[in-house]
Amino acid sequence: LKGSKVEIRTYGDPVLRKKAEPVDSVGPEEQKLFDEMEQVMNCAQGVGLAAPQVGISKQMIVVDVGQGPLKLANPKIIKSEGSKVAEEGCLSLPGVSIKVKRAFKITVEALNYDNQKVSVEAGDLAARAIQHEIDHLSGTLIVDRTGFWSKFSLLKKLRQLKDGKWKAY
Ligand SMILES: [Zn+2]
Repeated sequence: LKGSKVEIRTYGDPVLRKKAEPVDSVGPEEQKLFDEMEQVMNCAQGVGLAAPQVGISKQMIVVDVGQGPLKLANPKIIKSEGSKVAEEGCLSLPGVSIKVKRAFKITVEALNYDNQKVSVEAGDLAARAIQHEIDHLSGTLIVDRTGFWSKFSLLKKLRQLKDGKWKAY
């Protein structure tokens, strides 16, 4: 981590398919990573980022849908209600947008930036962003959350991403 240049990993990078490890606690090292992730997310104009997307296989996510950044480690959805389908993009899949069904309202338990155990309630866009980032921690991408035909129509773009012809920036 120290002095490293953080960059967004794109589709085809094996780290995006790994199961991320839980953190023991949120200390200075994790806080630094949270801050770097927030910077990268803001630079890329994203609403969320998971640590595997910057090549670090740890259960850490940052989400900001315009209500200030939420930085969570070891997030676990303990309650979900309702559902809604909406278009989603992913910083690791530049140029791809897919309709994904997500729970409308969720409650998440996690460790926060200050290493406190917190319970966070989120709805609509925030709930969607959090569910998307938690998916990354188990190696799940939006292309896995869509039907065969919609994935089929994306195959060419996915192949280009894998070949490195598309870059996040
Ligand atoms: Zn994503």
